[in-house]
Amino acid sequence: MIQGILIDNQWQSSELGDIAVVSPSDGQEFARIQRGGEADVERAVYAARQAFENSWERMPAFEKGRLLHAISQRILAEEDALTELEARDTGKPIKQARVDIQSCARYFEYYAGAADKIHGETIPFLADYQVMILREPLGVVGHVIPWNYPAQMFGRTVAASLAAGNTCVLKPSEDACMSTLRLAEIAIEAGLPAGVLNLVTGYGTEAGAALSASPGIDFMTFTGSPEVGTLVQQATAANHVGCTLELGGKSPQIVFPDADLEQAVEFAVRGILQNTGQTCSAGSRILVHDDIREHFCDMLTRRFESVRAGAHGEDLDCGALIHARQKDRVLRFIDTAKELGIEQLVEGGVSAQAPEGGFYVNPVVFGPVPKDAPLAKEEVFGPVLCVMFFTSEDDALTIANGTDYGLVAGIWTRDGARQMRMAKGIRAGQVFINGYGAGGGIELPFGGSGKSGHGREKGLEGLLELTTTKTIVLRHDGRI
Ligand code: NAP
Ligand code: MG
Repeated sequence: MIQGILIDNQWQSSELGDIAVVSPSDGQEFARIQRGGEADVERAVYAARQAFENSWERMPAFEKGRLLHAISQRILAEEDALTELEARDTGKPIKQARVDIQSCARYFEYYAGAADKIHGETIPFLADYQVMILREPLGVVGHVIPWNYPAQMFGRTVAASLAAGNTCVLKPSEDACMSTLRLAEIAIEAGLPAGVLNLVTGYGTEAGAALSASPGIDFMTFTGSPEVGTLVQQATAANHVGCTLELGGKSPQIVFPDADLEQAVEFAVRGILQNTGQTCSAGSRILVHDDIREHFCDMLTRRFESVRAGAHGEDLDCGALIHARQKDRVLRFIDTAKELGIEQLVEGGVSAQAPEGGFYVNPVVFGPVPKDAPLAKEEVFGPVLCVMFFTSEDDALTIANGTDYGLVAGIWTRDGARQMRMAKGIRAGQVFINGYGAGGGIELPFGGSGKSGHGREKGLEGLLELTTTKTIVLRHDGRI
């Protein structure tokens, strides 16, 4: 049976038929998934509601934790197969896919440990009163995740949601979701009760839109484009339901002359090439102090010219873009930059072994990019790095904060006071000093402001986003 719709621990099929799954590495179909629609989503939401009320809410938190831990162990036991599947489906190099699978397991491990440590508090109030704040699950949570990191996103949303005591309906992207199907199956094999985790594959405009508009959900998390983020927020608002939005960025790394330039160059290259630039927290702008512009650009050019994109199995610096539309979008940004007369500093290449039909582009660095050029302000979501120059701390902050986004930033300097001034001045949800984590570890709260969205995922902060509070006020003086 073609997989894709998992409701009440059973694979089911949709009346709408199915969809081809293509590997970006060669453009060839290698599987099919269900094309879920509104009716499938409503059945999944109903199953999640039943499971919330009848099993998951009643299960002791430590038992939920044990289950999540068992899931993490099973993921690690299947690391090789999941890695291969993820690499093939997304087109990313094997080594990146391996990190993603390990991270997915780590999300389950981390949130397993947190499941029985979520608790409320008491608050001092008037005499003869006792006030308790209960920390409770939200209920049924819908998750719409994108194609760039399916396995990581699965861990980040589902593990946190389940640990918080919610039941879930997940809509992965039809452009890459094969690992999420196996991960959901693993969760069931580990013992997850029926209906606690439901999955519906399909198009965003059908299954995704139906999930965010469903009156049966209590909360929604969305990761993807700002445009669809707006639609999701509008849909949830109609049902008076909250949502978190993780929408991408145009994140800067700022390099001062006193920095370790070798390391800064290395992180500049990795920060843009990770996942072929298709990372919300990609370090897509490098801001370089005027005093080191030539020296830094020379070092960057030398390092970048050997960069190669190739098929996932070749395991090079980066892979193919997710599909032909994304390749066209990236090429449009490159063409526009050239038409505007922006200098191309260096170009990497595509491996000679890369299969025909794959969605490859040459990784490229432009600079200096004018502050108001599209390349300086808009998210490309491809291996296109933008170099800009600055003269002072204030100038660097103006450029760094000069986009509608605010997700992640990197600061390269050995001056401790400057590190702190810059970190405080930058609009971003995460700031790395003398390093760049592209989203950072599982433990680190992550999310942005402005066009990057709102709300936090990862860490305990992300867990609390998926809970709510109930304030109980007990008057105990016994008098009328
Ligand atoms: P997208 O359309 O926002 O897709 C993200 C997710 O939303 C997918 O699961 C998609 O499903 C679903 N979706 C689409 N339309 C929907 C709707 N009306 N209601 C609910 N869900 C819906 O993003 P994209 O078109 O794949 O990529 C476009 C741009 O978005 C990229 O170039 C990049 O700039 C940005 N992006 C950012 C991130 C991030 O990590 N922040 C991730 C991906 C893309 P289907 O894919 O199945 O249609
Ligand atoms: Mg695919």
